[in-house]
Formats: sequence, structure tokens, C-alpha cells
Amino acid sequence: MMLTKKDVVEQPKSKFLRVKCLDCENEQIIFDHATTEVKCLKCGKVLAKPAGGKAILEPIAREIEVLP
Ligand SMILES: [Zn+2]
Repeated sequence: MMLTKKDVVEQPKSKFLRVKCLDCENEQIIFDHATTEVKCLKCGKVLAKPAGGKAILEPIAREIEVLP
């Protein structure tokens, strides 16, 4: 079976993201299908909010990398 690039991109698997809080520069790992607000462990600001089963990053959170 051939695995195309499209198949890989559209995998519905959940993943983890390394994000950086632009307010205090703390980096932490968040779940991209978080069902509750994700707050910065250092300053307490909201980094991501759940929306339709997927976490949406707030402007204060910058995605650094997607973890496998
Ligand atoms: Zn912070």
C-alpha cells in the first residue's frame, strides 16, 4: 500500500505541541486536543482554548514545534 503525503497530513491523530508563552518566555508542552483552557505554568495566562475538540492557540502562545 502506498502512503501518500496527503494521507500523512490528514491523519486525525492528536498530537502534542511545544509552545512558548510570549509574555514570560516559558516553554511547555500542550495537548492539541485539550478540552479545557491551557494556562502558562509560569505566569498563569491562557495559552490555548478548546474549540470543537481542538485547542486553538491564543496570540500570546507561539508554536515552537509539533512533537511526534
Ligand atoms: Zn507565561
